[in-house]
Amino acid sequence: MADKFHEECAVMGVYGHPEAANMVYLGLYALQHRGQESCGIVTSDGKGLISHRQMGLVADVFKEDVIKRLEGQSAIGHNRYSTTGQSHLKNAQPFVVEYSQGPIAISHNGNLVNGELLREELERSGSIFQSTTDTEVIIHLIATSKEPALMGRIIEALSRSRGAYSLLFLTLDKLIAARDPYGFRPLVLGKFSEGKNRGAYVFASETCALDLIEAEFVRDVEPGEIISIGPDGLESLKPFPPVPHAKCIFEYIYFARPDSKLFGHNVYQVRKALGRQLARESGVDADLVTPVPDSGVPAAMGYSEESKIPLEFGLIRNHYVGRTFIEPQQTIRNFGVKIKLNAQRDVLKGKRVIVVDDSIVRGTTSRKIIRMLRDAGATEVHLRISSPATIGPCYYGIDTPTRTELIAANNSEDEIRRFVEADTLAYLSNDGMYAYFDGQKKGFCDACFTANYPVHFEDEGHTRQLHLFDAMNR
Ligand code: AMP
Repeated sequence: MADKFHEECAVMGVYGHPEAANMVYLGLYALQHRGQESCGIVTSDGKGLISHRQMGLVADVFKEDVIKRLEGQSAIGHNRYSTTGQSHLKNAQPFVVEYSQGPIAISHNGNLVNGELLREELERSGSIFQSTTDTEVIIHLIATSKEPALMGRIIEALSRSRGAYSLLFLTLDKLIAARDPYGFRPLVLGKFSEGKNRGAYVFASETCALDLIEAEFVRDVEPGEIISIGPDGLESLKPFPPVPHAKCIFEYIYFARPDSKLFGHNVYQVRKALGRQLARESGVDADLVTPVPDSGVPAAMGYSEESKIPLEFGLIRNHYVGRTFIEPQQTIRNFGVKIKLNAQRDVLKGKRVIVVDDSIVRGTTSRKIIRMLRDAGATEVHLRISSPATIGPCYYGIDTPTRTELIAANNSEDEIRRFVEADTLAYLSNDGMYAYFDGQKKGFCDACFTANYPVHFEDEGHTRQLHLFDAMNR
């Protein structure tokens, strides 16, 4: 069951393009950071939906013969990552089902907080599920709806779905995008405005996918908006009552690619500003600033600029790290992290080092990195984190572990400092995290840093579900 609450994903869709599958493939490739476990593409050739889903990375799954088979002018795709046991092909998306009006495919990024309850209800009335994901719940709600038209069915299904969803639906002749009224996860609309593919539309989790296929960014799909693209053009609806927006701040901190424009801002520039703010809040005398690559790089640059302490790459990352390694028979200290990162003795020896990372989750990575820095000759190690302490699990689509495993949920800052063996440790303040946004906290979800959850499980009397979550997180 935990599977449903720990998913990170990317969605991508193209309408009206002769190479729709290829465009979605490239988009998924650009969005690989959002999910590495399985991927899939479904196309429509106007007569049927053609699907390919497989465990593995986009570049490994989609070979030329597979792409060729995925004919049609419209397509949707998905990258999925889940940390828990349920990593099966049956959970790979997009899902395709036949309902009374024909075939429909769905790609989902986010998590429903009432997915389990809806599933139980649907199963009681006869729905048979093929996967263990909450995404399939949405499909069943659409299939069992009494509304005559597809749009009515989607609106009804989504009005019962609570939590985070950035969704793409594909039918024989339509591509439909929907973003939940809170706007937790990103979703953008793009367009091909030049050349022979002029007029083709794109939806993607992040703008970096549009850049690769040379589509133009049009705008964000708005929270609570449903956009349908079909033979009659583009139609936008906002059928749900408005709620306060809750865009995920952690997308800026860690999750999104730095070259994406997310919720209106360039991620790289936000991260640099977080680093500058961190230096203003918790400066310390040292010889060099070094990032934990890649996630800590922009913040370390900002920190260095603000503090005037030189930036050096004391840690170098191997970019070709796969998923499994043959462990050596003899112990190599910090083996796991060494595969990914190497500390440069010639840079670090005899130096007082400020090491900048974006977040501490369990604390084990920071501890290993700090040991590596000291082994490479650093005389002092000051850990600076470009976000506040992570104290709450995410129920809206970011893979954070349960509360028990979150080091900051159970330990004081000084206890964490001692655990990671840093000389000093400082997190960014919550106010500081919003400095770039002129202190404007409205419109964001920062539950992972504050435990203020914008969508409560109790909202609809779902106390049983709340108890389940509590049990999971104890
Ligand atoms: P930990 O050892 O659990 O403290 O790992 C912290 C590292 O994990 C930091 O370098 C973060 O960049 C990275 N990180 C933070 N959130 C996530 C996430 N949701 N998925 C994967 N890595 C993450």
